[in-house]
Amino acid sequence: MALPESALGQIRGKITHDAPLGASGWFKCGGTADVLFKPEDEEDLSVFFKTYTGDVQVFGALSNTIIRDGGVRGAVIRLGRSFGQIMTDHQMVMAGALALDANIAQVASDSGIGGLEFFSGIPGTIGGALRMNAGCYGRETKDVLVSCRAMDRAGVIHVLTPDDMHMTYRHVGVPDDFIFLSAVFKGVPEDPSVVSARMTEIKQRREAAQPIREKTGGSTFANPGVDDLTRAGLPPETKVWQLIEAVGGRGLAVGGAMMSEKHCNFMINTGTASASDLEKLGEMLITRVYERFGITLRWEIKRVGDPV
Ligand SMILES: Cc1cc2nc3c(=O)[nH]c(=O)nc-3n(C[C@H](O)[C@H](O)[C@H](O)COP(=O)(O)OP(=O)(O)OC[C@H]3O[C@@H](n4cnc5c(N)ncnc54)[C@H](O)[C@@H]3O)c2cc1C
Repeated sequence: MALPESALGQIRGKITHDAPLGASGWFKCGGTADVLFKPEDEEDLSVFFKTYTGDVQVFGALSNTIIRDGGVRGAVIRLGRSFGQIMTDHQMVMAGALALDANIAQVASDSGIGGLEFFSGIPGTIGGALRMNAGCYGRETKDVLVSCRAMDRAGVIHVLTPDDMHMTYRHVGVPDDFIFLSAVFKGVPEDPSVVSARMTEIKQRREAAQPIREKTGGSTFANPGVDDLTRAGLPPETKVWQLIEAVGGRGLAVGGAMMSEKHCNFMINTGTASASDLEKLGEMLITRVYERFGITLRWEIKRVGDPV
């Protein structure tokens, strides 16, 4: 849906039609966005919502998303640079939703704030972390979140606490149309050198265990719940990569898409994958795991847009 000409004059951010979207994500494949809007600031975003009534989706670094080959209908919002600020005050860190998780970890560490270093291992933005309840090595976004702000489609801003957000493992119970704008996190006072050492350790663990230099989207599937594992007669600590490995998933390929040899829950584009290859590979694993264990894997990676 195109924007009415009358609206264009009121909007200060950049609008691009048929914008390459998939190519700008971590998988480096997939289609375009009909309309890409980069709001200058919150007011600009609310003006956009008052003038545009079509479908809207928002993305951060696209480190957790497959954009299907046929592209995304309607408008895609990627926040402008003013949403990327990070500030600290005592043990608090305030960040715009476009701020990279890794930068927040670094700023916190430099400021002698401990407890946020897990963010250094997650390559997305704070908006993505809030939507996904991103986490690693035993800590999640919900553990350090004090509050965040989100705008709905009417341009109304909501202030949310973790309780309001119903955050569970890689799931957040906030309406899909809420766009996160900023967040406040709380850490603990700590010697910067101690925090920095923990960040180095996280980096080394990830380098050793994950294909972080590949075109990937991180963990493809969420770990199954204990109930599913118990029903399947599996130990409760079983991880999804073990199910994938058991059905021959390590190194399994469809076209240019492959499950990483290094970490078989990471799907990679070996260079020529289409989004359809990636999705078919995932569906193949879902079928195999279901047939073998009776467990339906849940995609952790978001898949959006139309097939070709
Ligand atoms: C190498 C690699 C390693 C990874 N390791 C981890 C890990 O250890 N732990 C982990 O949790 N994840 C991991 N991920 C996945 C990913 O980095 C996280 O899910 C991250 O939080 C996604 O952020 P993003 O900005 O890239 O989100 P996107 O992929 O752009 O979007 C993901 C979802 O968030 C929504 N979203 C994005 N911004 C906003 C916003 N401002 N308001 C509302 N919704 C928004 C999107 O609509 C979409 O539904 C990894 C990914 C890669 C590539």
